Amino acid sequence: MKPSILLIYTGGTIGMKTDAATGALIPFDFNDIYDEFPYLKKLGVNIDIMTFKPIDSSNVSPELWIRLATLIRDHYAKYDGFVVLHGTDTMSYTASALSFMLENLDKPVVFTGSQIPIGVLRTDGRENLITAVEIAAAQENGRPIVPEVTLYFQNKLFRANRSSKHSAEELNAFRSDNYPPLAHVGVTIHYNRPYIHYPEAKTTELRISTSIDSSILIIKIFPGMTETLFRSLLNIEGTHGIILETYGAGNAPTAGWFIDALRETIARGVPIINVTQCKGGSVAMELYETGLLLQKIGVISGHDSTTEAAVTKLMYLLGLNLPKNELEKELKRPIRGEISE
Ligand code: ASP
Repeated sequence: MKPSILLIYTGGTIGMKTDAATGALIPFDFNDIYDEFPYLKKLGVNIDIMTFKPIDSSNVSPELWIRLATLIRDHYAKYDGFVVLHGTDTMSYTASALSFMLENLDKPVVFTGSQIPIGVLRTDGRENLITAVEIAAAQENGRPIVPEVTLYFQNKLFRANRSSKHSAEELNAFRSDNYPPLAHVGVTIHYNRPYIHYPEAKTTELRISTSIDSSILIIKIFPGMTETLFRSLLNIEGTHGIILETYGAGNAPTAGWFIDALRETIARGVPIINVTQCKGGSVAMELYETGLLLQKIGVISGHDSTTEAAVTKLMYLLGLNLPKNELEKELKRPIRGEISE
């Protein structure tokens, strides 16, 4: 029996081709995929296609995440794996969000896209698409090899909630600085099995969470930030949580006004999560006095999570309406392998 994959196209550069008559970029019709890429048939995989009204991923909002999660849930039994084609700009946000929203996942959901439109000769999209399908369909002893939400780009498969877009130019556009790739693709695909999460016995059904609370802020600190502006950001009404992007190992100014402003915000019941502005490495608030103060006033460590993972995890957890201590507990621990233990 051939494996069956559902390919979901949401938009982005990968879905463009050059119009033969005008030379302009026009949307590529993924329903004609076998006409354009007949060699896809050679993969030995049944591919069904669903297309959303294509959007540039800068316009993605939690509404698209909910549509995707619902679609995957509704078609979960019928397919062995899912491939989501998405614009690269916010792909790590969507893929991270889905990693949290799809609870008890035990099938592959592979995100990919491209830097060059699929209809352009030198495209990176062709290889990304074919390999993403191959990985989504890959099985061993009747079990999927990578039963996680992942992101495939330029020869590497990443855990989705560890990935970030790091280049607007290079074809090698994504990185996962704090977690090894789950697969390297060369002549053959080398799966990095010790780093892949395998669910224990299949006891629970896939469930999705569709209540996402996006009333949060990311505040990136910088030298010269003024008290007035910092305080007004913290005091914006309707803020349910804050991601604070700090320096290095989670360090921030020790000025009284800065610490007081954060302390007052936490006292109002708004959780503040500390993530580093560095691309690699971890928050370790106990290392320096400048971090220790944050820890003492109740700032939560985001450890080595990416901003994308911290943002989407916070939105997901806030949406669950957990009691305050439960919310803090969940924020501090890895719930989908998004932070290192
Ligand atoms: N702006 C595009 C998007 O994210 C870029 C891309 O797809 O690579 O939708």
